[in-house]
Amino acid sequence: MSSATTDPHPEPATSSRSRGLVLVVEDEPAIADVIRLNLTKAGYGVHIERRGDTVLAAVARLRPAAIVLDVALPGEDGISICRSLRAGDDWTPVIFVTARDDEVDRIVGLELGADDYVTKPFSPRELVARLGGVLRRTHGVPDATPQTVGAVTLDDVRRRVFTGSDEVALTVTEFDLLAHLMHKPGRVFTREQLLSAVWGYSSVAGTRTVDVHIAQLRSKLGQASPIRTVRGVGYAAEHRAAPS
Ligand code: CA
Repeated sequence: MSSATTDPHPEPATSSRSRGLVLVVEDEPAIADVIRLNLTKAGYGVHIERRGDTVLAAVARLRPAAIVLDVALPGEDGISICRSLRAGDDWTPVIFVTARDDEVDRIVGLELGADDYVTKPFSPRELVARLGGVLRRTHGVPDATPQTVGAVTLDDVRRRVFTGSDEVALTVTEFDLLAHLMHKPGRVFTREQLLSAVWGYSSVAGTRTVDVHIAQLRSKLGQASPIRTVRGVGYAAEHRAAPS
């Protein structure tokens, strides 16, 4: 591997395989190798699939903790794979690896239930950070009391969200973002604050990530959405949210 892709400040080695198995779907061998090296170094087990049409079977067989999913793949593309997983009620965290901005727009626009994405070329450290963030959020300490803001009820213990009596299926990231806003109704959070609180890091992600997930939440919650845009500042959850 070229030195350009080697992390000069590796994390200290943690106990091997203790952080769970990550299924990496990537058809470019050089990229797959870099991802494997860095995830292994960070303490994850790694299984690599090089074709899209073998992924659903691999997920069923391996039950990975998370999936790092390239978009353009032989056999079946990542967008189709993610759609199939979610349609089958499989909410394993998915981090997309995209080559182009227009793929990001497709991922967002199609409401696929992606938890995060990185755009090639990405630093291995960024991918490890995002993966750690997604996994950490799935193991957070829940608040026992369901909370209602406007027409939306959030159940932290069961990680479920309802509008009236209808349950809304959210990704790990969407849930955590909504929960962070709803736990402090009326308080305005900047995008940077939300990045830091929900993603757990601030230097590698752009604020667009926050906007993307807010848009996904609004789309799923529809008229019931309690999220208000505070122009030039950020977002808040309000009992009566103005449309924006
Ligand atoms: Ca590819």
